[in-house]
Amino acid sequence: MKKLIADRVKNISPSMTLAITAKAKELKSQGIDVISFGAGEPDFDTPIHIQQAGIEAINKGFTRYTPVNGILPLREAVAKKLLKDNGLNYSIDEIIINSGAKHSISTALQAICNPGEEVIIPVPYWVSYPEMVKLAEGKPILVDTKAENNFKLTKEEFLQAITPNTKAVIINSPANPIGTVYSKEELEVIGKIAIDHQIYIISDEIYEKLIYDNKKHISIASIDEKFKEWTILINGLSKTYAMTGWRLGYTAANKEVINAMGRVQSHALSHPSSITQYAGLAALEGEKDLTNKMIVEYDRRRLYMVNRLRGMRDLGFIYPEGAFYIFVDISKVFGRKINGVEINSSLDFANELLEQRKVAVIPGVAFGADHYIRLSYATSLEIIEEGLNRIEDFIK
Ligand code: PMP
Ligand code: GLU
Repeated sequence: MKKLIADRVKNISPSMTLAITAKAKELKSQGIDVISFGAGEPDFDTPIHIQQAGIEAINKGFTRYTPVNGILPLREAVAKKLLKDNGLNYSIDEIIINSGAKHSISTALQAICNPGEEVIIPVPYWVSYPEMVKLAEGKPILVDTKAENNFKLTKEEFLQAITPNTKAVIINSPANPIGTVYSKEELEVIGKIAIDHQIYIISDEIYEKLIYDNKKHISIASIDEKFKEWTILINGLSKTYAMTGWRLGYTAANKEVINAMGRVQSHALSHPSSITQYAGLAALEGEKDLTNKMIVEYDRRRLYMVNRLRGMRDLGFIYPEGAFYIFVDISKVFGRKINGVEINSSLDFANELLEQRKVAVIPGVAFGADHYIRLSYATSLEIIEEGLNRIEDFIK
């Protein structure tokens, strides 16, 4: 019989983070009193001056095709940003604008992966990484990391996973879903191994600006010129500028990689929306104060949650240093019956918590860690307080 759907796609799961976030929004719109810790997006609106730049782009008629790799002033603004914030010198032809960082990563993987080539992904991972590798016909190599190392990839773990077929490793710092941040020393270890074995480092830096406790974000490419040669730097405007729906991300890498990505993009997308690109330009050129205000607010919520979670003996968690997530260990609850339902997995926990207490969380299984759930604090302190009350009550 004829196959109606590609084998490549058959074993791809839909994004659980997007599905749960959408489900919580839908329940809320039906008038159900749902508290959502699911959100992987800022709860702030896009700053007004960025919104206006989008409207202005329409009014000025910037509504036609743009160059495939993005409008020149935007690529220049990205180059300026990388120099100023990250100490990285990239030329315009080493930068491509994509439709969101998710699209940057998937385009990069399409551009570099030959069938069966391996991409090392530390577990827990952001939900889309393994699926994007599979779609690019690569082979995701999931490498377990340890809670005692804050789930950061160690030298031994990395070395053990490398084979002659290894093409790339994905590093995400600050990390989703864990919230941890790699130090310069830790990145140095990874960079050295990568260049020794000629492995691309796909460095997902989307949460760069969401970082607390005076921690510093280091871009691995900035540590050594050789690291830079092998780094495919991914970033975007979704989180920093509360622009998730606009879809704007970018990639910086050597010319060969960017050129290959441009060829993929030219046939798959053409280019990100012209209107979005002009709004993005205003974001990068505009005042940074708004982002700083958001960070102060995230930090307040983070500290509140950390304090509350410390008081819940049955829950453990990894102390978050960045992004807007807390990764909570629920293993102590396993085997327990809650209102007659035995909890044995993160899905059981998430389903029953939603069913019984109307609280949405992302089950850790989405990130390859079934003993955990992810709580997002991209929601108001008031909601967080009520949600944590419900969770506390649920596990009692
Ligand atoms: N990387 C990570 C780790 C993320 O959490 C997200 C969140 N959506 C993305 C990339 C992609 O973001 P976007 O496509 O909205 O730029
Ligand atoms: N990155 C966010 C999350 O992890 C948004 C949802 C998504 O793109 O998967 O929840």
